[in-house]
Amino acid sequence: MTQLLSETCLDYSDILIKPKMGINLNSRKDVGLQRDFKFKHGQKRTGLGVFNANMATVGNFAIVKKLLAKGMFATLHKFYTAEEIGNFLQECEKENISTDNLFITIGLRNFPDHLQKLKDIETKYGWKKNQNISIEAPNFYIPQALENLKKTRDAYPNAVIMAGNIASSDICLKLLDCADIIKCGIGSGSACLTRKQTGCGTPMVSLILECADIVHSVNGHICADGGIVEVGDICKAFCLNSDFVMAGGIFAGTDEAEGTIVTKYKLSNEVMPRFDSFGCKTAYDPIVQEQKFKQYFGMSSEYANKKYAGGMDTYKTSEGRELLIPYTGTLDHVLQDITGGIASCCTYIGADTVKSMSKCATLIKVHNQLNRVFEQYTK
Ligand code: 5GP
Repeated sequence: MTQLLSETCLDYSDILIKPKMGINLNSRKDVGLQRDFKFKHGQKRTGLGVFNANMATVGNFAIVKKLLAKGMFATLHKFYTAEEIGNFLQECEKENISTDNLFITIGLRNFPDHLQKLKDIETKYGWKKNQNISIEAPNFYIPQALENLKKTRDAYPNAVIMAGNIASSDICLKLLDCADIIKCGIGSGSACLTRKQTGCGTPMVSLILECADIVHSVNGHICADGGIVEVGDICKAFCLNSDFVMAGGIFAGTDEAEGTIVTKYKLSNEVMPRFDSFGCKTAYDPIVQEQKFKQYFGMSSEYANKKYAGGMDTYKTSEGRELLIPYTGTLDHVLQDITGGIASCCTYIGADTVKSMSKCATLIKVHNQLNRVFEQYTK
C-alpha cells in the first residue's frame, strides 16, 4: 500500500538555533573551528567541515585553493584531466597549501576512465598519501552506483571515500560498507529542478536528523549537500549533527567561480532632475542601473548536458537550470562570513568547538525566520 508519512519534514528556513547559556566564551576568537575526523575506514583528517560543490562552476582550482588555504575541505569537479590535477597538486605544494583535504570527484558515466584517471594522478603526479575521493551520482539509488563504489574501495582501500547523493537513511548502512562519508540531499540545490520535474526530495533538516543518527551509529560521517542560502544554514547543519556541509550557490557569484561577469542595465523607477544653464529644472531623466551577474548552472541542466555529455539523451528531462546570479566580489569575503558566522553561532550557544555544536544546540521550529521588512532598501 502507498504510504503517506504525516509528520511535516523541515528545511533550514523552518528552524532557528536557540541562544543559551553554555561554556563561558568571551570571544569568537576562542572557538575551535578545526575538527579532527577519524573515518570509518581508518583515515584521519583535520579541518573545518565546509566543502564547495563539485560542480563545473564552483569545483574549480581557484575556489578549491582558497578553501584549502582557509583550512576547509574542497572538491574538484570531474572534468579536469589527470594532468591538470597533477599540476594543481604540484602548484599547491610549492605555495605551501596542504591538499590533505582535497577530494577528487569521479562520476558513473565512463566509470573505468575515471578510475584510470585516479591511477594516472597517482603514478604520474605523486598523489599517494591522503587520497580522498568523492564518487558522485545525482541518484545514488541505482545499482550501478553501489557497484562502482565497491570497485573504488577495492582499488583504494586507504582512501577517504565520500559517496552520494541519497535522501533517506535506509541506504546509508549499505553505502558505509565502502564509503566513509555519505552525501545527503536530493532536490535542495539552488540550481536544481529535481523536485519540479520528478516530485522527489527530502527537506534538509529532517534528512540530516534522519541520516546522522544511523550513520554515526557505525562511525560513519555525513555531508549535508545543497540548500545553503545563508551562512546561518551551515551553522544549523552543524548543530543538527552533520559532520560536513557542501555548498555551491553561495560561492558561485564570486570572482573565483568559473565564468565571466555579465553586466546588465535596467531602467530603475527613480529619476534624476535635469537643469538648464540658468539652473532651472527642465526635465527628469530615468536612472539606469548597472547590475553584475555570473553564470551558475546545475550539473543535470540541459546546458551542462550539452557542454559535457554531447547533448541531452532523449529519455532524460533536465533536472537542473542555468542561472545568472548576482556577482558578489571576492571569495575571501564569503569565506570570512562563513568562519565568522560559525564562530559567532558557537558563542551564542556556548560551544567552544565546531564539533561540540550539536551537543550544545537546541533547535526550534519557527514560522518566521527573518525580519525582511526593509529588504528592498538594502544598499
Ligand atoms: P546549492 O548550494 O547551490 O544550493 O546546491 C549545490 C548542490 O546542488 C550540489 O552540490 C549538488 O548536489 C546539487 N546539484 C548541482 N547541480 C544539480 C542539478 O542540475 N540538479 C540537481 N538536482 N541537483 C544539482
